[in-house]
Amino acid sequence: MPIKIQENISLSKYTSFKIGGPARYFCVVKDIDEIKEALEFTGKKKLKVFVLGGGSNLLIADKGFDGLVIRIQNSKFKIQNSNIICGSGLSLAKLVFELAEADLTDIEWAAGIPGTVGGAIANNAGAFGKCMEDVVKEVEVLEINRWLHSPDRAVEPIAQKGSTSTHLLPSSSQGGQARGELSQWNQRMFTNKQCQFSYRNSIFKKEKKYIILDAVLKLEKGDQEKNKKTIAEILESRREKQPLEHPSAGSVFKNPVVDGAHLEKLKKEFPELNEIVKNNTISAGWMIEQIEGLKGKKIGGAMVSEKHCNFIVNVENAKAEDVIILISLIKQKIRSHFGIQLKEEIEYIGF
Ligand SMILES: Cc1cc2nc3c(=O)[nH]c(=O)nc-3n(C[C@H](O)[C@H](O)[C@H](O)COP(=O)(O)OP(=O)(O)OC[C@H]3O[C@@H](n4cnc5c(N)ncnc54)[C@H](O)[C@@H]3O)c2cc1C
Repeated sequence: MPIKIQENISLSKYTSFKIGGPARYFCVVKDIDEIKEALEFTGKKKLKVFVLGGGSNLLIADKGFDGLVIRIQNSKFKIQNSNIICGSGLSLAKLVFELAEADLTDIEWAAGIPGTVGGAIANNAGAFGKCMEDVVKEVEVLEINRWLHSPDRAVEPIAQKGSTSTHLLPSSSQGGQARGELSQWNQRMFTNKQCQFSYRNSIFKKEKKYIILDAVLKLEKGDQEKNKKTIAEILESRREKQPLEHPSAGSVFKNPVVDGAHLEKLKKEFPELNEIVKNNTISAGWMIEQIEGLKGKKIGGAMVSEKHCNFIVNVENAKAEDVIILISLIKQKIRSHFGIQLKEEIEYIGF
């Protein structure tokens, strides 16, 4: 049966932020044939493409996305010896649960991270010092040839709501979207090394020409009771520390790595840093919390969470513009207070 391609579909319900205008075209795909069918459609119409997982790391523009959004829903899950084969559309929560049930360990850290396996691999999602890089053995992708790329983007600081100086600038650290004009693809495997994993990044996020189909993970034999206890503790700690009662996209900013001399200077000024800095990395949430007026700061319907300052929460039908202005304000304040340029962990789509 041909896939259903819908027009003018609101993306807000497909993101954890509950923000975002319409996709010009939208479809849900369950396997490689359906992905190819969707790509053929974009090729014919010369459309931009965005591959959507669980939508838990995105800020989608109020004007939406002028192309085809392909939502991946292949939720294959198979255990072969100690290899785990999973579809990129499988929810990470289900993966964590199934692996604990199967007495396999080393993925408990992912408990409570929303989204799909594909999104987690593209982002190299992680927590408690561990990340997808540690468990991924191989990734099977559809490589799209002859896609053009839009530039990567980041917010340039501004201050006032409605200000005409709100704009997005090219940046090497932020995601963009691939554009139409495709004519060929090929299916290929990436080894762990070829995935080029780094902090919340991978080749799949950097080069928007791969659609992750499946992944092979490698885990150790574990103790089911112990794993389940760890998972329950992690979930409880997330409920305590994170504002899960409101829509958000998790941590908005990456935790910056600061060079030696700059860090020593900051440690003198803020002795608390001696306790909390690990591997020259400062918590973005901690920095935001130090600046008077940022914790709980509200612009429109978006607010800096009082529970966890690296979260911006949608408390009252926030617009993407509200979030952008808040992000700009935070970046500006952090830069003048700490001399550090924060970079977004979330990805901008449709700007
Ligand atoms: C409450 C909350 C807590 C969070 N905690 C954490 C945390 O502890 N650690 C952490 O790392 N993140 C965290 N996040 C952020 C987010 O959940 C993760 O980054 C997650 O892995 C994103 O997966 P997704 O499926 O939602 O991806 P999406 O947001 O849908 O997409 C993210 C990127 O992946 C790409 N992508 C998705 N699927 C595919 C595919 N099949 N092929 C190619 N590219 C694909 C998209 O194009 C996009 O570039 C949190 C978010 C929330 C809301």
